[in-house]
Amino acid sequence: PELANQIAAGEVVERPASIIKELVENCIDAGATQIDIDIEQGGCKLIRIRDNGCGISKSELALALARHATSKITNLDDLEAIVSLGFRGEALASISSVSRLTLTSRPQSQTDAWQVYAEGREMTPIIKPASHPVGTTVEVLDIFYNTPARRRFLKTEKTEFSHIDEVIRRIALAYPNIAFNFQHNGKLVKQYRVSQSSDPIDKRIVTVCGTTFMQKAIKLSWQHDNLSINGWIVAKTTQEPMQYFYVNGRIVKDRLLNHALKQAFQERNKSSIHSTDQTLSYIIYLEVDPHQVDVNVHPAKHEVRFHESRLVHDFVHQAVVMALQQIEQ
Ligand code: ADP
Ligand code: MG
Repeated sequence: PELANQIAAGEVVERPASIIKELVENCIDAGATQIDIDIEQGGCKLIRIRDNGCGISKSELALALARHATSKITNLDDLEAIVSLGFRGEALASISSVSRLTLTSRPQSQTDAWQVYAEGREMTPIIKPASHPVGTTVEVLDIFYNTPARRRFLKTEKTEFSHIDEVIRRIALAYPNIAFNFQHNGKLVKQYRVSQSSDPIDKRIVTVCGTTFMQKAIKLSWQHDNLSINGWIVAKTTQEPMQYFYVNGRIVKDRLLNHALKQAFQERNKSSIHSTDQTLSYIIYLEVDPHQVDVNVHPAKHEVRFHESRLVHDFVHQAVVMALQQIEQ
């Protein structure tokens, strides 16, 4: 089983940033409103993630580390309509197979916190009492300490840090109602607060992407049947383009969606005097009935498959066309 875990780990745990993505998704699934991320040496030495979510009861603590143990789906029907970010029950098992992992947690219903520790081949985690407020902390030390071949693929501290920074930006953009603190080597490097204003998402985008993005952006907002789209597009940017597409709160890379956006812009350029080659920056949130989308396509969950992909494509395309028409008037 240990080997199986390490092979699975290769799919889910590529580098510190992918560990952080999985752990933060767990915090979100747990209903956390505050997530603190502490890393040392680009995450290679230490990753510590603390949340104020629902916690894990003492009796479930060891189970949480077991492979294919998930509390998020209970039958095959659930798999047809996934509403949580996690559902494979693979992340904690995979991460603990290639690191020294400590999981500390307390649910509301328990007066004390408990802790389990798992290290590489150690298959029976030891449970002991701990001190922790309601919520969960996962601490991951020495990634790939037992898989030297993989450790060699880790890049410099600076590179790993920037991958992590990007992962946190992406997640922060999708969850404006969650506060994030991000510390590197004991220094607070990013802080995403929850805005109490009527438009917390606008405020979050400004914090993450800067004021110029918002100033130049075209607003997109449309709803039809079970589909809804919201977002912002900037046609030309001097910086690296920022491209974020979310489906039901999950960041995805999807050719179909990219194509729909590009096509809408190209059509508009044909009819416009200033026909330039444009790089698009965008932050787009698509909400789809979970029955209409399959997220169980890739272990790292970057991809989705729409049951009616043509319909979704045309919907996104149409939303952009309409937004562009509005600014031309
Ligand atoms: P998955 O997210 O696919 O269910 P994971 O391996 O990521 O699988 O987590 C295993 C289980 O551990 C989850 O189903 C959940 O019950 C529990 N868990 C993990 N992290 C947290 C957390 N931060 N708060 C509450 N429960 C958690
Ligand atoms: Mg998970």
